[in-house]
Amino acid sequence: MSDGFATRAIHVGQDPDPGTGSVIVPIYATSTYAQDGVGGLRGGYEYSRTGNPTRTALEECLASLEGGRHARAFASGMAASDVMLRAVVRPGDHIVIPNDAYGGTFRLVDKVLRHWGVEHTPVPLSDVDSVRAALRPNTRVIWCETPTNPLLNIADITALADVAHGAGAKLVVDNTFASPYIQTPLELGADAVLHSTTKYLGGHSDVVGGALVTNDDELAQQIAFLQNSAGGVPGPFDAWLTLRGVKTLALRMEKHSDNAERIVEALLNHPKVEQVFYPGLPTHPGHEVAAKQMRRFGGMVSFTVAGGEQAALEVCSRTRLFTLAESLGGIESLIEHPGRMTHASTAGSLLEVPNDLVRLSVGIEDGADLVADLVQALG
Ligand SMILES: *Cc1c(COP(=O)(O)O)cnc(C)c1O
Repeated sequence: MSDGFATRAIHVGQDPDPGTGSVIVPIYATSTYAQDGVGGLRGGYEYSRTGNPTRTALEECLASLEGGRHARAFASGMAASDVMLRAVVRPGDHIVIPNDAYGGTFRLVDKVLRHWGVEHTPVPLSDVDSVRAALRPNTRVIWCETPTNPLLNIADITALADVAHGAGAKLVVDNTFASPYIQTPLELGADAVLHSTTKYLGGHSDVVGGALVTNDDELAQQIAFLQNSAGGVPGPFDAWLTLRGVKTLALRMEKHSDNAERIVEALLNHPKVEQVFYPGLPTHPGHEVAAKQMRRFGGMVSFTVAGGEQAALEVCSRTRLFTLAESLGGIESLIEHPGRMTHASTAGSLLEVPNDLVRLSVGIEDGADLVADLVQALG
């Protein structure tokens, strides 16, 4: 593993095809594999739910990028989350989740697993004492996101790993917002990493997918068993598209971060902007932890607008380059109003977000154009 990140992104799991010399891993569009006599598998493959060479290439590459020995790819981030939780929890068990968890994760825990007898406690993960206080004898998982969505709160992965392990629980980190270029939780003590590869890993807003990575052999076996038993696997074209995106992750994350920093500076100096949320800001409450565990500060930026909800909605409708849309992590810049869009379901709950908040997924266009677009939209 002495090669650097960008080298591994392009080469691990991606040797030229032995049969043809194809430089790029082919899309193995096949459901089944010929056997040389009963049980005589040529390349270890028998059926594509269980394994497919295009998917294997993606899995090997993702394992390497996260510094893990085992990775499994899924049809979506939520399919990966479902398998992750069912690999470790049983009826009667308890999970600690962030009080600002990704909405789909909260729904899975609150509306699906709850009916199977799994309890959960939402806590602010940036406060390690409140995490410790939420632990119960039956706590099996601390689920962590950092930075969080949409307020970009930061959790200390090393500290949470210590808390989890002291309680006999596993620390799972949803590393979707940072990507492995920016942050590698396994190296900080996490037991498993989850990705919605739909976001930065795929990186081009053209494919939905998920992944789990771990160094825990027993957990890896459970995950592989559930991947095959429940069958939420990506097709070979989706695996190929994701792998194509991964090859440029290092370049993209540098540019996403450069552009985000430029935009943050412009927003800080704009009279219509009240507060800017970005972990790279020295005034951000999680900055010190972020600087310790992140290589850059990423492409997500949120800010509040003077004039309340109406003013925030107007900014969202006036941009020319920033497309008004949900999701994040693609090459193109997106803008959204969390209160009315991604986080509408949190209204009136503990997870409610400010109604004058605007969230940006900063793309890799020319930074000056993005700044000019936001300045004209702010009016
Ligand atoms: C999008 C997202 C997910 C869910 O992934 P899908 O690919 O949409 O199923 C999970 N966690 C985070 C942080 C996300 O942004």
